[in-house]
Amino acid sequence: MVVSDKMYELGSKRSAIRELFEYGKQRAAVVGPENVYDFSLGNPSIPAPECVNETIRRLTLELDSVSLHGYTSAQGDAATREAIADYLNRTYGTSFHGDNFYMTMGAAASLSICFRALTSSREDEFIAIAPFFPEYRVFVEANGAKLVVVPADTENFQINFEALEKAISIHTKGIIINSPNNPSGAVYSADTIVRLAQLLSKKQEEYGTQIFLIADEPYREIVYDGVEVPYVTKYYDNTLVCYSYSKSLSLPGERIGYVLVPDEAYENKQLYAAVAGAGRALGYVCASSLFQKVLLDCMGETGDVDAYRKNRDLLYEGLTKIGYECFKPQGAFYMFVKALEEDADAFCERAKEEDLLVVSANGFGCPGYVRISYCVDGDMIQRSFGAFERLYAKYRK
Ligand code: PLP
Repeated sequence: MVVSDKMYELGSKRSAIRELFEYGKQRAAVVGPENVYDFSLGNPSIPAPECVNETIRRLTLELDSVSLHGYTSAQGDAATREAIADYLNRTYGTSFHGDNFYMTMGAAASLSICFRALTSSREDEFIAIAPFFPEYRVFVEANGAKLVVVPADTENFQINFEALEKAISIHTKGIIINSPNNPSGAVYSADTIVRLAQLLSKKQEEYGTQIFLIADEPYREIVYDGVEVPYVTKYYDNTLVCYSYSKSLSLPGERIGYVLVPDEAYENKQLYAAVAGAGRALGYVCASSLFQKVLLDCMGETGDVDAYRKNRDLLYEGLTKIGYECFKPQGAFYMFVKALEEDADAFCERAKEEDLLVVSANGFGCPGYVRISYCVDGDMIQRSFGAFERLYAKYRK
């Protein structure tokens, strides 16, 4: 082959989640869509807040095409970056300014940019804490570094600090955290973040290195029961925030988000320049002009998070009543459920026999569990309980 083996492999093999979703579509054509219970994807099921469409309509009427659709600055429009800084300062009591932000095409681009900006040697390592979003491995490795995995704290889905401490080495460039978490639905408490900050500060001193916390936060606003998501830059200076509007504004197809480089981060000016350089090298420049302008009018808005809360409650009550062991999600829109056999892949195959499509957590680095995405129609959750019951009964025989 003349092409890169690695890129060929990535492009020719669909992710297990996508594979399952495609299978669901095929099954729907055979047994009818109402008889397939597809809990595979994390595609927001609630509409974008009304302000999004209203602003788009207004902008297309008020602005000429060239100003609306032209390139912005590579790092994003100054007005949008200032507005994001003001919003965060008002909400979290921070003191950011527009030049702390680099606009991107969503969290996937933000993460890739951070890994590329920080990686300076083939030996560099980034640590992911299980269970973790499987694309981290793709992004880290594609940008020339290694991914090190810390096993899950399956009790509370916070951080297994003993294992994390062992995993940190002189090669550690960053720790990726994702709270609210895909796939567990856990939110890291302030205690967890304080402990993490203390550990990283200690390790930085021990090795004489800089260790960055990369906070992947596409689900920040999707939380239930008043749970708070600590703002990580307030606890640890070397933090980069990878944010996305995909989930909060239900805009995953529009590709808009940012990287935040705080002033307090080590050599912040060089770090910001490296972020901009990585954006340039990867082709992540001039994020969508239209959506940068939409953000100006929709700052702090979200879709109807309570609709996800209702789905969570329905699913949690239904599954625990049958007998499944579930972690009650505090945020995001995924439920983490113990498989009824050790091999979660085999369990998911048996679930497929009932046309129940749930994702094995083997790919999330947490064997023995499955992820159920409940960003779906509530009626489908209700209709699926019979299938969940039949699946449970098979294991009790
Ligand atoms: N990080 C996590 C944990 C996710 O779940 C996702 C998408 O599902 C992403 C990053 C990528 O999001 P985006 O659409 O902003 O690229």
